[in-house]
Order: sequence, then C-alpha cells, then structure tokens
Amino acid sequence: MATGENIRRVATLVADSVKQGIGVVVVVSALDGTTDDLCEAAEHAQNGNEAYVRKFKQQLLERHEAAAAKAIKNERVLKETQHIIKKSIDELEKVLTGISYVGELTPKSRDYVVSFGERLSAPIVCGCLTDSKIESQWFTGKEAGIVTNSDFGEASPLMNVTTHQLKERIGPLLENHVVPVVTGYIAANQDGVVTTLGRGGSDFTATLLGAALNVDEVWIWTDVDGMMTADPKIIPSAKLLSALSYQEAAEMAIFGAKAMHPRALEPLMRENIPARIRNVFNPKNPGTLIADTRIAQNTDVVKAIALIKDVAMINISGAGMVGAPGSYAKVFDVLGKNCINVMMISTAVSEANISLIIRRNLLGRALSTLEIALLDRGLIGEVTAEDDVCVIAAMGANMKGTLGVASRIFTAMARNRVNIRMIAQGSSELNISFVVKEKDGTVAVQAIHNEFNLDKI
Ligand code: ASP
Ligand code: MG
Repeated sequence: MATGENIRRVATLVADSVKQGIGVVVVVSALDGTTDDLCEAAEHAQNGNEAYVRKFKQQLLERHEAAAAKAIKNERVLKETQHIIKKSIDELEKVLTGISYVGELTPKSRDYVVSFGERLSAPIVCGCLTDSKIESQWFTGKEAGIVTNSDFGEASPLMNVTTHQLKERIGPLLENHVVPVVTGYIAANQDGVVTTLGRGGSDFTATLLGAALNVDEVWIWTDVDGMMTADPKIIPSAKLLSALSYQEAAEMAIFGAKAMHPRALEPLMRENIPARIRNVFNPKNPGTLIADTRIAQNTDVVKAIALIKDVAMINISGAGMVGAPGSYAKVFDVLGKNCINVMMISTAVSEANISLIIRRNLLGRALSTLEIALLDRGLIGEVTAEDDVCVIAAMGANMKGTLGVASRIFTAMARNRVNIRMIAQGSSELNISFVVKEKDGTVAVQAIHNEFNLDKI
C-alpha cells in the first residue's frame, strides 16, 4: 500500500481470486508511512504549528490524489474517489485545527487523527476494484461493526458484539458476490467514538473478520515472502519457514521478518483458522502458513533467531530489595506509569539485583524516573545502564522439554568468544532470550543459525 501502482497490483490479486470463485474480504492499512505522518502532524497541531498543519494537509491530499489517479483509470470512478479523499482531508484539517486551538492532544483525539490513514486508502482500493469490474463496497471498521473498549491507542475488541455485527453486516455482501473493503486498525467504542487497535492493527482487523465470518484462510499480504529463520540482511543463507504453529508465530510476531500485531493470531487460534503470510511482489510463493501444531514444520529444535537492536539494559541493585515484598512491583509501577515498556527481565534468587531491557530511546527517561522515585528512598541502592547491547532470541516449539538446547546455544556463544550479559527463558520454553554486546550480535545469530543447521531446512 505504498503507491497507486501497488494498489493496482493488490486489486489484480483480489480480482484473480474472485475470478476463481473465491469469496474475498479485503482489509487495508494506510498508505506506507501515513500513520506515522499523521501522528507527527497531531503533535505539531498540539504545539500550535498551523503552518505545518497547512503544509501537511496539502501533501497528504496530493499523495492520495496521485495514488488514486494511478490506481483508477475510469474517469467517473476516479472523480468519485477524489471527492471522498477531498472531503475526508477537509474533515481532518478541522480536527487538527481544533487541536491546535485547544493546545491539547488527548489519546482520544489522536486516534481520531490517525484513523484518517485507512479512511483515505480504503476508498482508493475500492475504486480500483470497481475499475477492474469487481463489484465492491468500502466500510470503516466502525461501519463494519468492530466495537472496542475505550482504551484509545490500544483498544480491545468486544468480541460478542463485534462478531455478531461483522456477520450481519459483512457476511451478506459475500453471498451477493460483492467484495467488502474494510479499513484495518480502526474501530469505535460503544458510543461510536473512533478508537484504534494499536500499531500494526490491520492484521488484527483481518483476523477478527476472518474469525467472525469463519473463513477458510486469512492472507496477510506484505513485502517479504514470509517468516524466515533469521533476518536475511544478517544471515544471507536464512531460509523461509513454510509452516509455523500459532504459538511459534506469536513468539515471532513482533520481531519476525513481517512484524505482526501481537494479538492478531488470537481470533484465529480460537476458531482454528489458518493464516498465511504472502508477498505481494511474489504471489507465486506460498509464503508461511500459520496453523495448529500438527501442520507446523519440523526442523531442529530451534526454528528462528531474532536480533533485537536499539535496546538498553538497566541494572538495579540494592540490599533494600532483599526479602522485601512489593519492591519489584514498585520498580515496574514507576516505569509503567511513565509509559516505559519492559521487554525482558531477569533476576537472581539472591534478590539483590534486577536487570531490565527497554527500548534505547527511553533510557534517559527511565533512569531519571527511577532515580527520582526510588533511589532517594533507599529501596534501591544503585542504578546502572548499558546502551551498547542487543537481545538475541532463539525460538521454536520443539524446544519445549528437549534437553540440551540451552547448552548448545551457550556453547556456541563460548566457542565464538561472545560474552552473555543477561539470560531469560520463560517457562513456556518456546523462547530463550539473552543479551550480548551489540558488536557481538551478528556473530551470535550466525553461530546459532549454524549450530541448528537452519540453512539446510
Ligand atoms: N496503519 C496502521 C499502522 O501503521 C495499521 C497497520 O498498518 O496495520 O500501525
Ligand atoms: Mg501501516
């Protein structure tokens, strides 16, 4: 969803399926980068930067009009689509102007602003399908019937109403051979106020629809062939994984080659509906199938390795924490209240220190917050940080209950003279994560990839 040409490609893929007699529901995300741009514009509006807002509006309009003009040949359909685009952008301008007057950006108004990404892309896709002689109708997530709670920015769908409404509103179109185009990512709360499902939420919209309509498969189209054994930019011999279980895919969701919304697989798991990750630029490739464990591909115990960069490690130590109930809770409470997400934790039974991994850009804020809230109260003694580290995560469902996996991983590290700074393995045993110096990251991934023969699968 980057350009008008790409949208035509998408429409061709849809048309091919429709011609084969396959019923299709399309879920679209915003044009590439638009959601980020909208977030930025909302911030500028809050700071009262009206000139920015005006310029932004113009660029957004031009980008979408250009995409529509490339995607849609029929004059009448193009005119109609451009009219919708123009109207939506006028509405967006009013919202941004409102924000700039009040000088306040709430999670609620931010969701309203970012919802325009999908509200602008869906009519273009719909127009392009119409242009390709496929009867189609577009809906916002709200119109389609997705109802959420009011956790703006990260709203949770209310499953019962949502399922009921999706069935009632979208189901009949399929029976009448109309292709519904639904905006991903956006929904509404019970009062009809726009909410969003969290970044990358279009995947979640698709799986909600898939589960409600009890479809045969959900295809997540992207620009890579599927999930890989490692990032091919680091390991050129990395291989495509042809099948993963839901659990394995969920472990890889955030860090895999195709980043997925962390909750996207939930609705499918419940109904046992398979998902497939496919490449728009290589549709002949079957991609990665995500389904129940019986279908998942059998490889060695480790299936995939992720290298997570741009992280920092915080070490908190102090005798005050030993045997003091609630002391860890205080640490996490302070970080949570300051919107600092903790990605990984480890602590020893001595209780005298905790190590945490967070995003590197939050390090300064995390350190000052911890210092203000905890250091001077004597609960913790010392806080130190390292910002030249990375996380390595080895994943695979067969790791569970298999002896010697950790030993093989860490022996491979020792053989390559890589020092391990921190380790965590959840009791699910699907994933071993550890921290090394950033300069050792590539070597570490390569060593595990070799140890488990992942280039031979
Ligand atoms: N447009 C939204 C985002 O960028 C949702 C999506 O792309 O899935 O997060
Ligand atoms: Mg997006």
